[in-house]
Amino acid sequence: MTMLTRIPHIIGGKEASDSNRFGPVFNPATGEQTGEVALADASTVERAVSTAEAALPGWRATGLAKRTAIFFKLREIITSRQEELAEVISLEHGKVPSDAAGEIARGLENVEFCAGLLHHMKGEFLEQAASGINVHQTRQPVGVVACITPFNFPAMVPLWMVTAAIAAGNTVILKPSERDPSSANWIVKAFHEAGLPDGVLNVVHGDKDTVEAIIDAPAVKAVSFVGSTPIAQSIYQRATSQGKRCQALGGAKNHMVVMPDADLDAAADAAISAGFGSAGERCMAISVVVPVGDIADELVQKIQDRIGELKVGPGTNPENEMGPVITAQAKERIEGLIAGANDSGATVLVDGREADLPAEGYFVGPTLIDHVKPGMPVYDEEIFGPVLVVSRTDSFDEAVSLINSNRYANGTAVFTRDGRTAREFEFNIEVGMVGINVPIPVPIGAFSFGGWKDSLFGDTHIYGPEAFNFYTRRKVVTQRWPLASESQINLGFPTN
Ligand code: NAD
Repeated sequence: MTMLTRIPHIIGGKEASDSNRFGPVFNPATGEQTGEVALADASTVERAVSTAEAALPGWRATGLAKRTAIFFKLREIITSRQEELAEVISLEHGKVPSDAAGEIARGLENVEFCAGLLHHMKGEFLEQAASGINVHQTRQPVGVVACITPFNFPAMVPLWMVTAAIAAGNTVILKPSERDPSSANWIVKAFHEAGLPDGVLNVVHGDKDTVEAIIDAPAVKAVSFVGSTPIAQSIYQRATSQGKRCQALGGAKNHMVVMPDADLDAAADAAISAGFGSAGERCMAISVVVPVGDIADELVQKIQDRIGELKVGPGTNPENEMGPVITAQAKERIEGLIAGANDSGATVLVDGREADLPAEGYFVGPTLIDHVKPGMPVYDEEIFGPVLVVSRTDSFDEAVSLINSNRYANGTAVFTRDGRTAREFEFNIEVGMVGINVPIPVPIGAFSFGGWKDSLFGDTHIYGPEAFNFYTRRKVVTQRWPLASESQINLGFPTN
């Protein structure tokens, strides 16, 4: 029997496992329980929040140049030890290390963006707004910020949030997914090694009760959340009903339109990469392929041929391209959806339940389901597994209206060689992030990330420039320095 690792909170720079409740942590590639994570109760949350509150005055007064240096150092630490972090991710999430390395690279973009915080924190100044009057605007931190993250990017999503929150002078309570909590602890330790003072970034592990205690804590002024749509919506309602600012990113169903003029081999490669990378457990994964016109048979055949060549297995073998899904329950749910597909009128072309897979662990083979339509569970639900569905359309307009009718609007892509079609797609599609011949259009760190409709509750996208709006309050100062002789009483509303 393996010795279970106990995964602690980190509060004020110190590890703490004082909890009556623990949650199991598994290695999804073997199905073996490897650890147990402390699940914080209200008193632990209170301690973490008051620690963050106590650290706030010192941190918001820390010079920006000193903050900047921490981000440069953090970049060095993560870059030089990224294989170690990739292994931590892979052992609890199951994604293969090469995929984990990609997640770290995308997370690092946020560290790099925040190393430019001198620029991002700059305000505005207007000289002589009226006679003898200058106006300037500054950015100040909002206070203690809560960052609640999902299992599928245990390093990248925490880095999306905590980097800008800290750069802007806030202090943070990070509550990662209880299914793969160790990456968050790794990141917090790296921040400390880079010189971040104790108490600025605290990690508190837990579940629903923990999250609710964090959101309700009066000192918590802003909430960043990424996870599934029903939880995102409830978090948004809970936080905003208490007057707190909230950005809550939810689930997705991302469509990839393939036009008749597209290079079908390139489109098939893209569908495979974006559909089955990370076992489909990406909020920007392609889950619906939408061929337009009579290329459908040929495209579907090309995707099917490629599926046969995918190497599925544990990340400990570097040849494997796709790992398991996160839990036994996730595997069961995904397999249930595949099982019902034929009865709902779709055609299962490749059934991942019949693939040659490792006996242990939560593996589901890559699955391809054709002739899928709205109203079928495999279309309506976010499957969040290695399942690509194909919804055939007769025209570009039909493809656009299919996508615009979907409740989710995170990402989408069009594959075409025609600039006019691409332009029409970009203009008319009601989705937050659009790829043109790019299947997973996750914006680089200098832009912000966010979907529309049920993929995001709130009005601010995450990371990049919008993060510095979310994590700061703007203060506008109007000043004049009149001569004493100019002073007079005037009960009218001041005009220029
Ligand atoms: P989840 O909603 O189950 O959990 C997310 C976080 O919320 C976790 O920290 C979890 O502990 C907490 N939580 C769970 N239930 C809760 C409840 N009832 N009340 C309060 N907090 C609760 O999501 P997940 O399964 O960890 O992640 C997968 C989901 O996240 C998918 O739907 C995926 O599309 C979505 N996601 C979206 C984005 C995006 O940018 N839009 C990015 C990554 C993942």
